[in-house]
Amino acid sequence: MKWIVTSAWPYAHGTPHLGNIVSSLLSADVFNRYLKLKGYETIMVSGSDEHGSPIEIKAIKQGIEPKELTDKVHQQIKEILEGFNIEFDNYTRTHNPTHIKYVRDVFRKIYENGYIFSKVDKLLYCPDDRIYLPDRFVIGECPHCGYDSARGDQCENCGKLLDPLDLVNPKCSVCGATPTVKEVKHYYFDLPKFSDKLYKWIEESETLSENSKNFSLQMIKQGLKPRSVTRNNKWGVPAPFPEAEDLTIYVWFDAVLGYVSAVIEYFERQGKGDKWREYWFDGDTHVAFFIGKDNIPFHTIIFPSLLMATHDNYTLNFHIGATEWLTFEGQKFSKTKGIGIWGDEAIKLLPADYWRYTLIYLRPETRDTDFTLSTLEYCVNKELNDDLGNLIHRILSLIKRYLKGRVEKTGPKTEKQKELYHMGVEIADKADKEYMDMRFQRVVYTVMELVREANAIINHEKPWETWKEDPEMVKGLLYILAETAKRIAIMLYPIIPESSARILEYLGLNPGETGWRDIYVPREEYVIAKNFKPIFQKINKEEITNRLKEIRGESMEEIDIETFMKIDLRVGTIIKAERKERSKNLIRLYIDLGDRTVKVLAGLAKFYKPEDMVGKKVVVVANLKKKKFMGEYSEGMILAADDGKGNVKLLTVDGDIENGSRVR
Ligand SMILES: [Zn+2]
Ligand SMILES: [Zn+2]
Repeated sequence: MKWIVTSAWPYAHGTPHLGNIVSSLLSADVFNRYLKLKGYETIMVSGSDEHGSPIEIKAIKQGIEPKELTDKVHQQIKEILEGFNIEFDNYTRTHNPTHIKYVRDVFRKIYENGYIFSKVDKLLYCPDDRIYLPDRFVIGECPHCGYDSARGDQCENCGKLLDPLDLVNPKCSVCGATPTVKEVKHYYFDLPKFSDKLYKWIEESETLSENSKNFSLQMIKQGLKPRSVTRNNKWGVPAPFPEAEDLTIYVWFDAVLGYVSAVIEYFERQGKGDKWREYWFDGDTHVAFFIGKDNIPFHTIIFPSLLMATHDNYTLNFHIGATEWLTFEGQKFSKTKGIGIWGDEAIKLLPADYWRYTLIYLRPETRDTDFTLSTLEYCVNKELNDDLGNLIHRILSLIKRYLKGRVEKTGPKTEKQKELYHMGVEIADKADKEYMDMRFQRVVYTVMELVREANAIINHEKPWETWKEDPEMVKGLLYILAETAKRIAIMLYPIIPESSARILEYLGLNPGETGWRDIYVPREEYVIAKNFKPIFQKINKEEITNRLKEIRGESMEEIDIETFMKIDLRVGTIIKAERKERSKNLIRLYIDLGDRTVKVLAGLAKFYKPEDMVGKKVVVVANLKKKKFMGEYSEGMILAADDGKGNVKLLTVDGDIENGSRVR
């Protein structure tokens, strides 16, 4: 049996956050590492999804080519993958010649097979930007409730779904111009023709989970509609249909085909042009997809029907590992609001295994889960350091102290030793099944049971007390503990590969030559490493928060001088300062700016006494929008320096200068 392991293609529009990483990229890596341990032939592929309007329009707004944008994001994602030890055989991108050729070939074939038809659509076109506007880039008045900035796909105010042509007084959201209506010929994929075939395939599938089956069958029962497969973007795969010179393939149809083209490209690079067929056209190949639950229909309906429409014999042994959502400290991830941690930040903060363990511990398999820094701290300090790390260190130290670092195979000497040995086998069987069922979160719980049991037996049999009177009993214990450490390291290898490899090395094993079957094969002896160190270090969530602030400060977006000059900075003198009632942080300041006095609420009560602030010449952002804090408006902001470690100092002026002077 061969496996193709894939993850959802990250959209090259922004950096993936912890939620994106756990649901797709990391989950695929855990599964792939597990399959390799089991001895399967696997190939793991994915790539950056670069095409489509959101990227094209973001590039227009920044005045650059789309590829400049995606080059940057693609490079960053690759660095994140490396930082997280996520090892794809081919992590590629959709804007590559192999992919573009493959997508065009597939659609040409589907067209020739009679599953593509054309239809004339009315679309909005911005004459200034010279682009057809995707629905959500048109803004206008909602025909239902009158809300004045409804988006072309949906009114935010009344929630009704809209057609952009319904909007009263529509405007281009990029430049504000009034769009014109143009008639354009578009191509549709005749999805309803596959309803029966898809239904039968899903119903009879032995590999799809009940969840994805029920969900997809329901969709088919409700009736499938033809799906438009072309767009008026320039940035995409040119559509291979007659009179379609200005059209590209809709990004979703383009991206799913990447699962095949990435395998093709992988073998092309090795000069084995046709070998990809041995994967995709072999009925014994299984394909695993790791995605968020919202993407299920693209993997159970769209992608398989495209493959069916080619009339070629692609394998349809699909396994779908779909996850629910991960939130961050109770909220949705939001870059603009600064809620969450992003992949590029995470790899600067902590070793990969700390993130990998915590994310899999929290993997949202059956319901949404919440990532908190407290959970991260718990996972690293308690589970990894106190339970696992401590266990391994105790075992190695005991073998070193009592047996000079070498323990030979021997049978169990007590009932408890025997139980631990058998428990190891049971746990391995259970973890094996959980991995195969893509229930990685369960694996963590299962294996940690064995860790705790092993710690308990050391406390119970107290080798430091029993060694003198019964060395044979201690030898039995230490051998079984070494076996248990080996088993734990193998079972956790897919989740924490670096740490597991270190444990195996300390036990005198070669991680590269160790597989799942070694769990069941007792070793003749263990000769442990001479120098071993604690594997994990405790962390502190306050330090992580501060370090995160520093990292964000370092990597601020570049701005031009015009943007900077929009900030009206003025010198002012604090003429009055008082604590704001019922607030721990806020001080109310009255600042003389020469021509006027402004009232500013500043969160400085932890750092300054109000009476010490009076008379200081400070720098004020004088054109900041008024903002309410605890029911009171603040009319500006004063500048202060913050080192991220709890020191905050006001910016003052070097010498005397008139209030109201411009700072630049
Ligand atoms: Zn409305
Ligand atoms: Zn425009």
